[in-house]
Amino acid sequence: MLNKKSVDDINVKGQKVLVRCDFNVPLIDGKITDENRLVAALPTIKKLVADGGKIILCSHLGKPKGVAKPELSLAPVAARLSELLGQEVKFAADPEVVGPNAKAAVEAMKDGEIVLLENTRYRAEETKNGEALSKELASLCDVFVNDAFGTAHRAHCSNVGVTQYVDTAVVGYLMQKEIDFLGNAVNNPERPFVAILGGAKVSSKISVIENLLEKVDTLIIGGGMAYTFAKAQGGTVGESLLEADYCEYALNMIQKAKDKGVKLLLPVDNVIADEFSNDANTKIVSCGEIPDGWQGLDIGPETAKMYADAVKEAKTVVWNGPMGCFEMPNFAAGTEAVAKALADTDAVTIIGGGDSAAAVNQLGYGDKMTHISTGGGASLEFLEGKELPGVAAANDK
Ligand code: AMP
Repeated sequence: MLNKKSVDDINVKGQKVLVRCDFNVPLIDGKITDENRLVAALPTIKKLVADGGKIILCSHLGKPKGVAKPELSLAPVAARLSELLGQEVKFAADPEVVGPNAKAAVEAMKDGEIVLLENTRYRAEETKNGEALSKELASLCDVFVNDAFGTAHRAHCSNVGVTQYVDTAVVGYLMQKEIDFLGNAVNNPERPFVAILGGAKVSSKISVIENLLEKVDTLIIGGGMAYTFAKAQGGTVGESLLEADYCEYALNMIQKAKDKGVKLLLPVDNVIADEFSNDANTKIVSCGEIPDGWQGLDIGPETAKMYADAVKEAKTVVWNGPMGCFEMPNFAAGTEAVAKALADTDAVTIIGGGDSAAAVNQLGYGDKMTHISTGGGASLEFLEGKELPGVAAANDK
């Protein structure tokens, strides 16, 4: 059980609070095209303002790789945050992040005021967890708050290094929610606990499969990786995505599930196509009966129904990875059926970040889910059972 101190456990009145946020928003010509991450950061910022802290925000944006690229400046974020919060967010435009502007702005702060530092990745040592930037960031503050889940699987200066030089390091509300659901709910679930895994490759999900097999009652597999399982069991998969090197692994997983009494559900039918295109000719065939020249691009209707039924019985469901090539509308039905099943159930529903989160939101089911993770890579590593450095660095309760 992860039990980390949060912003609810500290008194920040009059304290300088450095908050690591995830303001890594998409920008086109200096305009923010999706502000979900800014909105998601507001509860923690508002709480710290209301408590009378002096709030110093920091984040990375894109991959400037140690160069102060103007197109990756956080200036537009400061402007939009000021509007969203209804109070000025002063921007400290230092290419070295902690420079004269930042120091002067922090020095002049009154309780409840907010300053935003420049893109932390303008400094090359940020992603190397270097000592100098970690110390400089720590020198600005009395207390550190990490609310950036998207980078929690990386040990960088602004989320991990800095904590070595401050006494108090806690998590914000966004991080707390991710810990509660992806960490604690997965480790201590209400049962039956069903995990649904999809996406392209078995090889990228091995650790997730292995970790979840130890915890779930039912493991559902869809997406491109199902064809490796089908081939391993003696089926023909035509031109479908296949990782032949992983067939033996797939058989081991099938055996492991049996030994553990975990119900492993694999597709029974597939939507196949004669080319990798939305306009391809399509057919529905039984799993493992895909002819040469054809490839499986979605689970079939019978499979979709079987998966939806499995979700109905569940009390906790975790989903990571689409059931097919959902980016092409003709191969999105399986992913949509799973999203709908999750939207309709009373179970606790947890969506790993990345494609499944995007699919759920695009389909308008976002507000029907218990938790949609904000981190792609970080949520996957959490599901692998790994300790995330950004989480580990916060003080225990
Ligand atoms: P991942 O990043 O591993 O979760 O994979 C997500 C990608 O897997 C999406 O872009 C899907 O289009 C792709 N995908 C899912 N099912 C298939 C399939 N049957 N064949 C090829 N690609 C697939």
